[in-house]
Amino acid sequence: MCKLSVVLVLVGMILTVSGRADVVPDVHKRMHEQLQAEQDNSQRFQAMVDSLTNQNEETEEPFNLYSTLDLDAGWDDDHVDPLLGKAGIAIPDSAFIPMKGFVPPVIGRVNSPYGWRKRRMHKGVDLKLYPGDTVRAAWDGKVRIRKFDRRGYGYYYVLRHPNGMETVYGHLSKFIVNQNDTVRAGQPIGLGGSTGRSTGPHLHLEFRYYGIALDPAQVIDLNTFRPKSEFYEFRQKRARQVAQGLAGNGTAAYHRVKQGDTLAAIARRYGTTVSRLCDLNGIRSRSTLRIGQRIRYK
Ligand SMILES: [Zn+2]
Repeated sequence: MCKLSVVLVLVGMILTVSGRADVVPDVHKRMHEQLQAEQDNSQRFQAMVDSLTNQNEETEEPFNLYSTLDLDAGWDDDHVDPLLGKAGIAIPDSAFIPMKGFVPPVIGRVNSPYGWRKRRMHKGVDLKLYPGDTVRAAWDGKVRIRKFDRRGYGYYYVLRHPNGMETVYGHLSKFIVNQNDTVRAGQPIGLGGSTGRSTGPHLHLEFRYYGIALDPAQVIDLNTFRPKSEFYEFRQKRARQVAQGLAGNGTAAYHRVKQGDTLAAIARRYGTTVSRLCDLNGIRSRSTLRIGQRIRYK
């Protein structure tokens, strides 16, 4: 009786395995294709996570969200700008914000940079991803906002970090952590998607300091996805000007119009769009270009 049931179990296992045998290669093939397609990205990502993890292990600082700054200031679950409608929170004139421990939330091509876009400020950078890709916390931190904004960010988070920075993650398809959860740098917090005001799957990523949206390209190198330097130098006056689109981000560049140039051709050449050129130069898409005219493209 006992032996019989063992045999039956064994037969059952063999049947289960052989039953799945024809399914496995198919799944495997698809996984293999997907892996190959994402290999470059994942290898780059893993290398970065490894190096950053090692870097973090060298000095084992205790995780203390409230060690240096009053990080409860303006804590609410509603406003992306934590200072909105609140008095008595002083923004420092300048600060050096440590970048240590940063992990890229995703690694992907820049779909749309920070700055003027269709006559409104785009307060973050759009990074291409595939629906369902993992989105990770940029630093250790705490989830301040987890909300749905149908006409804007879609499903989004605002995380607050011990270095005083806040990060915003928009257009997610799924939440993984809860409001008020403490997260570690690199921890999966959500899956990428295209919810809210979005024309395709991407992560809308913002870096904010006291609510002021910084240019992500000035915080991290968007080719290597490493911090631009050990400390981000925050200057309130300058940051406000940049956030209001009143100042360039220090990387303004111009094209001198030549015979036969069109806005579309200039946009293509510099990897931007006609509407961005129009915003930057205060012109219309049908404006006539003069030979020798300077057109700002970033
Ligand atoms: Zn965006």
